[in-house]
Amino acid sequence: MTAQPYDVVVIGAGIIGISAALKLQQKGKHVLVLDSKGVAADTSAGNAGAFAFADVIPLATPGVMRKAPKWLLDPLGPLSIRPAYALKILPWMMHFWRASWTDRYQQALTAQAQLMALSKAALERQIDSVDGQHLIRHEGQLQLYEGEAEFNAALPSWQTRKAHGVAFELLESAEAIANIQPGIDPRFTHAGFTPEWKNVVHPKVWTEHLANHFQSLGGTLTLDTVQSIELSVDHVRVVAAQRTYQAEHIVLATGAWSKTLAAQLGDRVPLDTERGYNTTLPAGAFDLKTHITFSNHGFVVTKAGEGIRVGGAVELGGLALAPNYKRSDILLAKAAQFLPSLKTDQGVQWMGFRPSMPDSLPVISYASCSKRVIYAFGHGHLGLTQSAGTAELILALVQGKMPSISVTPYRVQRFQ
Ligand SMILES: Cc1cc2nc3c(=O)[nH]c(=O)nc-3n(C[C@H](O)[C@H](O)[C@H](O)COP(=O)(O)OP(=O)(O)OC[C@H]3O[C@@H](n4cnc5c(N)ncnc54)[C@H](O)[C@@H]3O)c2cc1C
Repeated sequence: MTAQPYDVVVIGAGIIGISAALKLQQKGKHVLVLDSKGVAADTSAGNAGAFAFADVIPLATPGVMRKAPKWLLDPLGPLSIRPAYALKILPWMMHFWRASWTDRYQQALTAQAQLMALSKAALERQIDSVDGQHLIRHEGQLQLYEGEAEFNAALPSWQTRKAHGVAFELLESAEAIANIQPGIDPRFTHAGFTPEWKNVVHPKVWTEHLANHFQSLGGTLTLDTVQSIELSVDHVRVVAAQRTYQAEHIVLATGAWSKTLAAQLGDRVPLDTERGYNTTLPAGAFDLKTHITFSNHGFVVTKAGEGIRVGGAVELGGLALAPNYKRSDILLAKAAQFLPSLKTDQGVQWMGFRPSMPDSLPVISYASCSKRVIYAFGHGHLGLTQSAGTAELILALVQGKMPSISVTPYRVQRFQ
């Protein structure tokens, strides 16, 4: 049975799909969102909740491949490959290596900075449009370094942020750090503080708030699992487990699960997942004043609702392998060393699937086969951060208008 026709069917109710659906509905489109599990049921629920506009530097930096073996040798270090997935990740790694060459890196850096600038401004518009100010924390971010050598090695990255307009203060003593966040082990002697950094009070609550607003404007949310997408001259049919839906356009926002549906449409995308782990501790676990990043250990400590979330790490292990929660244990044990008064009991462990492209840029693009199909996936570590900007670009692509920034760097064909 085919449901009534829609202007747009958005597949995926994570932060990207919901943000795009909301923007389209606000501009008068008749929008349906389909998801197999519900709003923010996966990665968009358990992330660290940061609008990380300062993080303009792609992961594939020049020279990164020389550092990777050291990280990979530690099976519980910040970066790991599950042995059962080692061969499958090779094509992604090859593209990652190529993306780290200076020419590609510079292009990706510019494109990332442009999307960040758009997303930062778009977020303010989005917050106003949904009366969402009460769900945003303005507490900055502290990026910590153990000693002068580690700090000096990071200075070029701070210069790059400066060149892209990121405001920050560099701190060169444990006392200066303690003025912002007491309770950090004194081995951390240096830091960069980004005062304009923002967080949501809770990523699931934020996505649900946007989804409620979408529904209050007449948008529809339906639980269904999409199996295929069929094109005809004047519309698109979305074939799902419960029924078939028809629309003028579809937006594919299925995060780390987007590869199969894109392949059905003829686009082979080097999308994979960087699995991440965390533990959420109950209220009172630590008196946290700001979002803390332990960059060289690959994890953050942040607020999630009333609780404290300790999480990060990158595990290359695909979508099917069971989680290895030893990673959450290790991050929590490190956090307890670095924040000696952290109470580590009664934590809830979680693993999520970052949808990652090798060049750290998302796919925001028409499908190769038709302008009726628009892709919005692959935001990696930055899906929440770039959600409002992505939504504005998707609106322009649906309307057939010129986007406010060039979408050429995010096109699906860039790896072909
Ligand atoms: C540990 C960790 C910390 C992070 N911290 C941050 C952070 O602080 N800031 C930040 O910006 N980003 C962060 N991220 C990244 C961020 O969480 C992701 O980039 C973002 O959630 C991706 O959103 P999405 O909407 O693309 O995908 P998802 O949230 O994964 O949503 C995709 C949806 O598609 C649905 N779906 C899949 N296939 C189908 C189908 N066939 N039919 C119907 N529905 C389908 C799924 O059910 C799912 O709900 C973090 C990630 C991790 C793992």
